[in-house]
Amino acid sequence: MADTTRLSVTNQQVINAIYKAAKSVGRNGWDLLSRAGLTSLVRDRQGLYRGPDIEALPGLTAQEKALVREALGLPAEVPQPETPPAALLTNQQMINAIYKAAAALGKDGWDLLRRADLVHLVRDRQATYEGPAVDALPGLSAAEKAQVKIALGLPAEVSPPEEPTPSGEFTHQQLINAIYKVAKSAGLNGWSLLRAAGLTYLVRDRQAVYRGPAIDDLPGLSSVQKAQVKAALGLAEETVPPSIPQITNQQVINAIYQTARATGQQGWTLLSRAKLTHLVQDRQGAYQGPAIDDLPGLSDDEKTRLKEILGLPAGGPPKPATGETEVAAGIEGKIKWQGPSPNQEPTRYGHPIEMIVMHYTASGSTAGTVSWFMNPASKVSVHYVVGRDGEIVQLVKDECRAHHAGQGPLPGQSEEIGERRRKRNRIIQPNSRSLGIEMVNWGPLQKRGDKYYTWMGSECPGEVVLKNGTYWQAYTDSQLASVIQLVSHLCRKHNIPAQYPPLGPGTFDPDDKTLATFKGILGHSALDNQKRDPGPHFDWDRLLAGVRENLGQS
Ligand SMILES: [Zn+2]
Repeated sequence: MADTTRLSVTNQQVINAIYKAAKSVGRNGWDLLSRAGLTSLVRDRQGLYRGPDIEALPGLTAQEKALVREALGLPAEVPQPETPPAALLTNQQMINAIYKAAAALGKDGWDLLRRADLVHLVRDRQATYEGPAVDALPGLSAAEKAQVKIALGLPAEVSPPEEPTPSGEFTHQQLINAIYKVAKSAGLNGWSLLRAAGLTYLVRDRQAVYRGPAIDDLPGLSSVQKAQVKAALGLAEETVPPSIPQITNQQVINAIYQTARATGQQGWTLLSRAKLTHLVQDRQGAYQGPAIDDLPGLSDDEKTRLKEILGLPAGGPPKPATGETEVAAGIEGKIKWQGPSPNQEPTRYGHPIEMIVMHYTASGSTAGTVSWFMNPASKVSVHYVVGRDGEIVQLVKDECRAHHAGQGPLPGQSEEIGERRRKRNRIIQPNSRSLGIEMVNWGPLQKRGDKYYTWMGSECPGEVVLKNGTYWQAYTDSQLASVIQLVSHLCRKHNIPAQYPPLGPGTFDPDDKTLATFKGILGHSALDNQKRDPGPHFDWDRLLAGVRENLGQS
């Protein structure tokens, strides 16, 4: 029977059978195709199938194989569906391909999605992709389209690398230096500017010759900054405009937050009164909003304070570096951006950032944790991961909504409990209102003999603590130090009070209304009675004391 398969069906028919089988077991067709090692079939859909016997396909369960054979109607003939082949793609798969292409080119996935005019795909990820063919996508270069096609398993011509427009060659290190120089002259953080320009990948190979986009095409830089970068690289001789003090959106945001603090208000509230919340979407961009005096919703006193903080109207350059932003710059340099995770949403649906939720990963390594959050199949994400050595990795931008604390129904639970959880989720809105921090830690352990084992059955390394009758892997000192630094930074940046909820930071609070208005720091276990993280041995006192000290509140 299997040999008959190979001789009598086309690649398209096998694809169709796999998709049909996937559908009947509630799985994704493309996933099944890749598990079966058959994605290459899409390159020659009308060709005769020459792959392994269905029985010999790797990665499929016996049930799936049986369904594929049934769908092929062996040896009966298989109806040819009318659906065009391209329609087999879901929106999620297209999103993944764009992100993969962006990663391959060292670019930002969201930016590529936006340029391709495909942002709307995130609204219905499981729907069939009905947008333009890859070659017809607007705003993408030939090289970018080629990468998207490769990511989709489509044949693609390999395009030559994009040449920098300026004729002179320079190394990654030279470009890094130029960006840092420009940042410094504007009182900005060099790393932040490098990130805004989508160039953090340069640090991985500093001596390589730069082959990225032309300086003029770099995102996140103002035209003045681009001219300054070119000048610093020796590419432009006399075109540098006089260095007009440029105020960035971030500087305006900082000034508004400082004004808010000085007048006992929430920074975000003041930002919305001034109708400037959109500034967070382009923090490094030059401020192009109304003059401070023309901002709506602000009192004269608030405007005066703002102008004073920004160094206006005396005409001098704005005062960028207050003590506070210097501290922030220190940690910002320490945070390694390895995102964006595909499992996030680009908006918080109008909710301000009010909470910081602490988790443990139930895993042992930072790299493994990061790859899980970067895997579209996991569907979960978090803003920050703090490793056991204190390394801090960021996977989701603060302004975006990560999937770390939502309360949907869990497998095996009754519909009633599931509905209760959904309702609590709608009231508290934990993901829309919070930043998530995952600390690498195995969580609870089993003791057998004199050894301790993780939930995966592996032996747990390092220190173990006994708390509330359960053994737990201890958090490390470097990890706690980084967590304190990170939480202090986030509290300051988003004006989140350094405080715990009424029942305590890790204690489940059944009163969803309290948590719906709570602003501060708490454990996942306080939000969700099915969760135990960060666990009873996490040193909450040390965290709060450290954060308050950093914020000058001790
Ligand atoms: Zn958690």
